[in-house]
Parts: sequence; structure tokens; C-alpha cells
Amino acid sequence: MRRRTPDPRELMNDRQNDAKSRSLFSIVFMPTLRCNCTCSHCFEKLTAVSMDDSLYEKVFEALRAIANEVACDTLRIYWQGGEVLSMSPESVRNALYEEQRVFAGSGVKTERHLQTNLMPYESRRWRDIVRLFDVNTVSSSLDFPNLYRKTAGIGPEQYNAVWLKKKAEVEADGFAVSVISLINRGTLEIGARRFYDFYEREARVKNLQINLPFPGYNVEPRPLDRDALTRFVIELYRIWIERGRSLNLSPFKALEERILDRPTPILCGFSYSCAKSLIAVGPRGEVGQCDCWVCTFPEHNYGSLFTHSARELLEAQSRRAFVDRALLLASQTKCGECRFFQVCYGGCPIRAFALNGNMHTPDYYCPVYFELFSTILDQGELQWKASHDAI
Ligand code: SF4
Ligand code: SF4
Ligand code: SF4
Repeated sequence: MRRRTPDPRELMNDRQNDAKSRSLFSIVFMPTLRCNCTCSHCFEKLTAVSMDDSLYEKVFEALRAIANEVACDTLRIYWQGGEVLSMSPESVRNALYEEQRVFAGSGVKTERHLQTNLMPYESRRWRDIVRLFDVNTVSSSLDFPNLYRKTAGIGPEQYNAVWLKKKAEVEADGFAVSVISLINRGTLEIGARRFYDFYEREARVKNLQINLPFPGYNVEPRPLDRDALTRFVIELYRIWIERGRSLNLSPFKALEERILDRPTPILCGFSYSCAKSLIAVGPRGEVGQCDCWVCTFPEHNYGSLFTHSARELLEAQSRRAFVDRALLLASQTKCGECRFFQVCYGGCPIRAFALNGNMHTPDYYCPVYFELFSTILDQGELQWKASHDAI
């Protein structure tokens, strides 16, 4: 059976909110900020910078020190860009070998995940390298309808058709493809049924994660209309149930588990503190909370892998703002009164920071989450009642 590749931001149950007590810690590893695409909704400030091969040894030694400092058994390394496949295959191979060499005998197991837009994939060039990641599934992104994804030669209107061909090529090489879909204003216009049909019947994906746009470097897109977005996600949730949960649709499944009080891995945006289980490393060794921060708001970075020790990075003042966020929200904002606080913990800090101007405020999409959580709870109660009535 194929394992599903979790999204980089799909992490451990953060009710265990002490990194020291965990066995898993994750690194968003960005060895390059180069990308073949020119998407107008990209939140990253892309540049031609890539990590030099000569740095890999130092980088993985520093990551091993971080793994020791947080006392994790497993370090999960999410390879992202930019676009990893815009690097040379030799450089990716060198990095993977260096990682294995540095962690050998360390007592820390490493896992790798690969996020790629797929467009540069060519079997003869990449198949054997992707095998070295030891994954069954690669993670990619595809929006529907596509308004923003494009390359210099492929416009948004042709992009999805080209992507589907690449997906077929990757699958023919023996890898499954999971998809992150960023909701856009076009998605809200076509509605949840058409959206679900596209991924299930046309794109034929099994593992789909819906994500809300991240604010970032580019001006597009503007925040989504929250009322329209609420209607969309609730309709999508209902269609998912009506279709027998036929897709592994994140974050619905995890939210159901959490709302019905069964601990489960969940998206970082609904974790007690994303900082407890994840950090990101950029191509110059810069360390920040996640790719959104490293690429877009580097003034919030924690330091550098090359000039700071693991302890200094983990104890950086700038990291405390993330670690303490849920506590501050509980004591100083409406989150403290919210019946869903232990489901949501105030949502994602970057959406609060970029859209409200303050990380220590509830996520901009709070009203959407609240309505979705209420619908899931109602549905759970309905199911509970149905099963007890049947007894
Ligand atoms: S959104 Fe992803 S694929 Fe598109 S330009 Fe940005 S990094 Fe590249
Ligand atoms: S800032 Fe948001 S996207 Fe980044 S790790 Fe934290 S919760 Fe996840
Ligand atoms: S739903 Fe809104 S108020 Fe409730 S915890 Fe989440 S962000 Fe805070």
C-alpha cells in the first residue's frame, strides 16, 4: 500500500506541545530559491540563489545538532524550493548522500519528502534521483481553476494540461502524486462540486490538500472574500461526506478527528505552535519559522546555521514570538473565549501577521474556520446520534 506524503505543514499532534517530548521534528529544506515557474501568486521572493554543494556537509551537521537539541528520534526533511528540480540532479544526489553520511550512526532517523511543481520532471533525468528520496509519493501543487500558475512559455490556461502529462510520467515511473490546491477567487466562482469533480475525475488524485493563499512577496492574490470562502468550504465538506470521503481530503479528515477529540496529526496552521515542531532552512543557511517567513519576512529569522549553534537558533528571541503565540492569544484575544481554541489555537501566524499586521492576533480567516468547525461538530453529533439510534 502506498504511503501518503504528508504536506510539509502536516505535523504531529501539537497537544504534546513540548518539542523535547516528541520523537519527530521537521525541517523545511530550501536548497534553492530558483524556480522554473513564474506564478503570480508566489509568496516567495525567488532569486537565482542555490546552496553550494560544498556547504552540504556543514548544513547536515548543523541539522543533526538541531535534532539532538530537540531530542527527536526522527528528523523529517521536506525538500522544497523554489523548485528542487531546477537544481542539477548531481547536486541533489550529492546532498542526499551527504545527509545519509552525516546522520549514519547518529541515532536519528531521517525521512525525506519532495515537493515539486513537476514541470521540469523528465524520467531519464530524475527518476533515479527521486528514488533516492525513498518516497512512494511526491507532493505537488495544482489549482483549479488555474489563475496564477505559469512558466515563461506556458500560460495559466495551458498549465494544468501540461501538469497532468507530467503527473502521468511521474506515475509511470512508480511514484504517486499528492496535490496541494490553493483556493482562489475562480475556485469560489465555480463552486465546490465542480472543484471536487475536477480533482477526483479529471486530475485523478487520491490525496488532496486544500490551502488558503499565503500572503507574500507578490501582490496577487488579494485575501479571499471570507463569506464566499465559508460557503465554499462548507459545501466542499458536505460533498466530501456525500461522496463517501472518496478523496483523502486534508484538512477535513484531521479536523474531524480533532473536533471529535481523537488526537491526530494536523496542519501546522492548527497546531498549538508551529515552532515546536518545524523550522525552515534557506539556501544561504538562514533559519526561520517556515518558507513563508524565510523568503518573505526574513527580519523574523532565527539566525544562520553557519554562525549560530543549534541552541542559539532554538532559543532565539524571534522564535519565542511563535512559541508563545497560543498563550498570548488565549489571554489577550477572542480566541480565549472560543469553543474551538483547542482545535485551532488561533490559526496561522503568517496570515495574522501579513493580513492583520500583528502575529499575535487570530488568523485572518478565523470566521471561516469557526463556521467549518461548527459544521464538522454538527455532522459528528448527527453521526453519533444515528449510530446510537440504530442500537
Ligand atoms: S508558487 Fe511554487 S512553482 Fe510557482 S513560482 Fe513560486 S515556488 Fe515556483
Ligand atoms: S507560519 Fe503558518 S504556514 Fe508557517 S509553519 Fe507556522 S502555521 Fe505553518
Ligand atoms: S476559530 Fe477564530 S477565535 Fe476560535 S480559536 Fe480559531 S482563530 Fe481563534
